[in-house]
Amino acid sequence: MTVNVDVAIVGAGPVGLFAVFACGQLGMRTAVIDGLADPGGQLTALYPEKPIYDIPGRSKIRADALVDDLLAQAEPYEPNYILGHHAQACSETSDGTFVVTTSGSRKVFARAVLLAAGAGAFGPNRPPLEGIRAFENKSVFYHVGRRDRFAGKRLLIAGGGDSAVDWALSLAEVAQSVTVVHRRDTFRALPAAVAAMQADPRIQVETPYQLVGLDGVDGHLRAVNIGRIGGNAKRIGADALLALFGLSGDLGPLADWGVHIDGKTIPVDAKTCETSRSGIYAIGDVARYPGKLNLILTGFAEAATAANAAFARVFPGKTLHSEYSTTRGVPVSTQNQHFQTA
Ligand SMILES: Cc1cc2nc3c(=O)[nH]c(=O)nc-3n(C[C@H](O)[C@H](O)[C@H](O)COP(=O)(O)OP(=O)(O)OC[C@H]3O[C@@H](n4cnc5c(N)ncnc54)[C@H](O)[C@@H]3O)c2cc1C
Repeated sequence: MTVNVDVAIVGAGPVGLFAVFACGQLGMRTAVIDGLADPGGQLTALYPEKPIYDIPGRSKIRADALVDDLLAQAEPYEPNYILGHHAQACSETSDGTFVVTTSGSRKVFARAVLLAAGAGAFGPNRPPLEGIRAFENKSVFYHVGRRDRFAGKRLLIAGGGDSAVDWALSLAEVAQSVTVVHRRDTFRALPAAVAAMQADPRIQVETPYQLVGLDGVDGHLRAVNIGRIGGNAKRIGADALLALFGLSGDLGPLADWGVHIDGKTIPVDAKTCETSRSGIYAIGDVARYPGKLNLILTGFAEAATAANAAFARVFPGKTLHSEYSTTRGVPVSTQNQHFQTA
């Protein structure tokens, strides 16, 4: 399946979503590719229910509500969302059109590419348990998403950092029971939060234990087996396992795009956000230049900068008239966003 647009955006995090609006204001049609099934990047995957306080003009907004607003702001421009697909390759035709190919064999033809790839394509750090993939997204999870997913469940949380401790305290409010398993006796989290967890009668703490096996049928857990290193094992009845060993980002798929990558970031010219490859721009957390701040608001400004720079490539010879959104307005919404998933 092919999609023809003016600008291909890799990454549906907050910055990629705002780039749809920034491009749309300049008359450029967009497709947004993301390896995750849901838009929102880190906001959706890591902290949907946390309030954010430094979005200009919003004194306090939950991360999931900001994603909803960004989708609504993008909607009049009818972007093509290609979700659950990794952007894997980028070739160029003889007339300078980019062809971005996804893991699901979609091809996006575009005159410019905006990389809003954050820390790269997210993947969880999985515990090495036999058959774990059959349980994933049914009863084994690597991020919380929405709390009500765990309502009334016997939940086992594995991990020893801030996330494990904070989520144990939070999910104890909705789960039937919470057991926290960590392979050390000490936690890498705020001491006050650890003390609160240890004092909470709704939370059972098992240390120093590690996960050794899953027991269940058709992806639905019945119990998790845990063991002490070189010692005795235990079976903990559980309906859900939340394994919080962190997510790792992988810029790997972009390595062969002919774009200079420096570690986990892509150096850009701050005036245009253009990378070392002409016509490919990087914005948001993945973009690097002297003085760069990894903040959502910085990424929003970069999206506008890159859209303005891409205009000349998308519409060669056309003059870009600088106008405010109050003058341009937005198209009448047709409620016609195109979501495609793998
Ligand atoms: C707990 C926490 C709290 C935070 N609080 C704040 C805050 O209060 N204020 C603030 O400004 N910032 C905050 N941040 C940072 C903020 O979330 C990031 O700066 C922001 O998410 C960056 O947005 P982005 O769109 O550049 O990248 P991301 O949100 O990382 O999104 C990038 C997207 O690109 C996708 N992707 C990458 N490579 C590919 C590929 N090859 N193919 C397909 N898809 C790909 C990924 O799947 C991901 O969805 C916080 C971060 C965390 C973890």
